[in-house]
Amino acid sequence: MIVGILGGGQLARMLVLAGTRLGMRFRVWEPATDSGTAELAPTINAPFDHAHSTLSEFVRDLDACTLEFENVPASLAESISALGVPMRPSPSALKTAQDRLSEKTLFKSLSIPTPKFAAIDSLADLQAAIASIGQPGILKTRRFGYDGKGQRVIRPGDDLASAWSALGAPPTDAALIYEQFVTFTRELSIIGVRAIDGDMRCYPLTENHHAEGILRLSIAPAPNVTPQLQAHAEALIRSVMTSLDYVGVLALELFESPSAPGGLVANEIAPRVHNSGHWTIDGAATSQFENHLRAVVGLPLGACECAGHSAMVNVIGQMPDARASLGIPALHVHDYAKAPRAGRKVGHFNIVAPTAAELRERLLTLREANLTGVDLSALDRVAL
Ligand code: AMP
Repeated sequence: MIVGILGGGQLARMLVLAGTRLGMRFRVWEPATDSGTAELAPTINAPFDHAHSTLSEFVRDLDACTLEFENVPASLAESISALGVPMRPSPSALKTAQDRLSEKTLFKSLSIPTPKFAAIDSLADLQAAIASIGQPGILKTRRFGYDGKGQRVIRPGDDLASAWSALGAPPTDAALIYEQFVTFTRELSIIGVRAIDGDMRCYPLTENHHAEGILRLSIAPAPNVTPQLQAHAEALIRSVMTSLDYVGVLALELFESPSAPGGLVANEIAPRVHNSGHWTIDGAATSQFENHLRAVVGLPLGACECAGHSAMVNVIGQMPDARASLGIPALHVHDYAKAPRAGRKVGHFNIVAPTAAELRERLLTLREANLTGVDLSALDRVAL
């Protein structure tokens, strides 16, 4: 069984690690030279605007193909599919998830609460959207945004012309979306997996904390989640996966907003394994990486139950000395073997504890260790 992966960053690396255990083999296509998979699986280093020869070399003998990066050109996914290699998730699901406008239109069509929104292609569109949706709001690029990049909060009195020219006007010429600003109590995500035969499983809601637009800390199961809220979140992601005839792992990013119907507002979907699901490697019966691969190749899905209470702490910029991190009892270290760079996700730590109180104790121990790349200031806001 050979699985192709478009993109060779840490998500591909963790897919390869999980699938290798099941006897799968991989071929990765990554445009950058410093890929996270090169030492683990054959990796083709070429741009995605594919020369035909690269595409033929990549698809040879593949049983299925998936992706770790949603901004791969949809035309490439379509070409792979046209060559008879099952692309999972499908090119059409990928296209929907690549554009914030089509994502929000999908939410609306499924009656999933989402902020009011409007497509913005000119300064006049922005003025009209603000008149109808109100302020504050967020102006975002529809495509290629990540970690909070390509967006700007618009408050009453802000200079609209400068916001438009920073994000959408020539030479950028990016299509934009204006969204109502949601007042939320916390950010949650739910990760689901859907098999080719329609079987679906969901992990528990996860609570996420960001700093400078980058995820720093995830807690799973999210504290203070009623069975009703979990069931509601599962119903939302199931309806998205079903409507897209989705195969693989999908993440749905949510705002908890008690005034919204059902208490949740959908922000966006990620058509892939997701940073807020990294805790599943050590904290769930089957990791999101393994479940994604099981779905992609048509194997039965694994259980999503948790082994206890988990936390995932991203390491940003540079990994700390392994002697320091491995000296902390029961800390699971995941080092992506990346060169250090400011703002870069270079690894993560997982902590699993039998109770919420013990998880808090272990996180406090980690915070006190003051390791390079770890920002646990959000811990004070977590109700563990
Ligand atoms: P995104 O790139 O859409 O995930 O947005 C990055 C971050 O901006 C989110 O994690 C939220 O903290 C915040 N954000 C995005 N959209 C909204 C919104 N409509 N209302 C309030 N905050 C938002």
